[in-house]
Amino acid sequence: MAEELSEYKGPATMEKITSLAKRRGFVFQSSEIYGGQNGAWDYGPLGIELKNRIARLWWKEMTQLHDEIVGLDASILMHPRVWEASGHVENFTDPLVDCKKCKNRFRADQIDQAKLAKKECPECGGELTETRKFNLMFKTNIGAMEDSSNIIYLRPETAQGIYVNYKNIIQSNRMKIPFGIAQIGKAFRNEIVTKNFIFRTCEFEQMEMQYFVKPGTDVEWFNTWKERRWNYFKKLGVKMEYLRWHQHGKDELAHYAKDAYDIEYLFPMGWKELEGVHNRGDYDLSRHMQFSGKDLQYIDQDDNNARYTPYIIETSAGLTREVLMLLCDAYDEEKVADKGNDDDWRTVMRFHPSIAPITVAILPLMKKDGLAELAQDIRTELKEDYTTDYDQSGAIGRRYRRQDEAGTPFCVTVDYETKENGTVTLRYRDSMEQVRVPKAELAERLRKEIKEYKRK
Ligand code: ATP
Repeated sequence: MAEELSEYKGPATMEKITSLAKRRGFVFQSSEIYGGQNGAWDYGPLGIELKNRIARLWWKEMTQLHDEIVGLDASILMHPRVWEASGHVENFTDPLVDCKKCKNRFRADQIDQAKLAKKECPECGGELTETRKFNLMFKTNIGAMEDSSNIIYLRPETAQGIYVNYKNIIQSNRMKIPFGIAQIGKAFRNEIVTKNFIFRTCEFEQMEMQYFVKPGTDVEWFNTWKERRWNYFKKLGVKMEYLRWHQHGKDELAHYAKDAYDIEYLFPMGWKELEGVHNRGDYDLSRHMQFSGKDLQYIDQDDNNARYTPYIIETSAGLTREVLMLLCDAYDEEKVADKGNDDDWRTVMRFHPSIAPITVAILPLMKKDGLAELAQDIRTELKEDYTTDYDQSGAIGRRYRRQDEAGTPFCVTVDYETKENGTVTLRYRDSMEQVRVPKAELAERLRKEIKEYKRK
């Protein structure tokens, strides 16, 4: 494992990331023309490409590469008893205090404890209310009546959809333990403090996988999944020295957990949780058995039909939080002297080519003399396999910079030589190196470059 860094020293700041995200169409504030909606964000053209690619990569990692893991897409609205069984109605709370003077709201565990003891507001010095428990689940009503008989919750996590379908999936897909169920979907939490851009929001997406194992084998599987999740980030090309493990202490462990580790990432605002790997024991299935009255035990045909309640190892990642991590991780500023000007800087997003929103941009050197048409033809050929962009306006150096900022790993420039001998210039984002390549070989060349990509 790489040596741990004590503090963030990279070129990104949250202000730079937020402003680049807006400028280039990664992420916009929700309902901006109405002054914005707290805790909610919209993913623009580049953002949705990035988010979809991360989701696809995770999905492939979990399902395609593991014969014993299958997918699920459960609904967001579930029977309210689910949340009683899961413990969310009772326990999914944060301690909340309000300032009577400035009306600010704080999480009691996140403010200066000496001030809290004196009931003093950390913002204005005014008087704080008593600490009270605040449930993070969004509550609404289903059907025409608005009363307590038809309360329904927006799910605060995707995991419960998996537990309640565990028996269906065993029966329909003849799954044998150990096996897993993976799901990507929206989750909602009425977070008291939303800050740091898309890090903590009220509406977000999770990528969760629940792995059902025989009791007694859980510790081994827990360690296996820790290792697999760590290796996933290596594949993504993330700076590994920016990742570390954090084991939950006794006071941090959730009510259901036997053991829990977070993978933390060193964001510009410090080390923060990226995803969790949890050993949930038999808590979930036992509780659903108790609350639903249905038998969810597993009959192990490979072990003399032994009956037991499986233990669950969970890997729980935030998709939208991973988008933020990858924006921070990719962000770089570099002094370049390629135009003979020492003061020339570029901002470059060094995404792994397999997650970059645009894989290849096609740029005709000039619009005239048939170069634009030639470039469009090349784009048409490449877009069967890659997301492409086309840009014919401005000096070529300026166009490269625009693509660098969007994180496009490859640019193809079409010039007069292309007309003569069918070759194009392939320009690499990271090194800015340029090579001549026959246009007929481009698609194959890009495939190879993407597969063999190593971040310097
Ligand atoms: P935290 O302590 O940060 O509130 P948590 O420990 O409650 O998070 P989990 O319930 O384990 O988080 O959720 C799993 C993952 O879902 C987290 O690691 C994170 O990536 C993501 N996640 C949780 N809450 C949010 C949120 N409000 N906004 C964005 N992502 C979130």
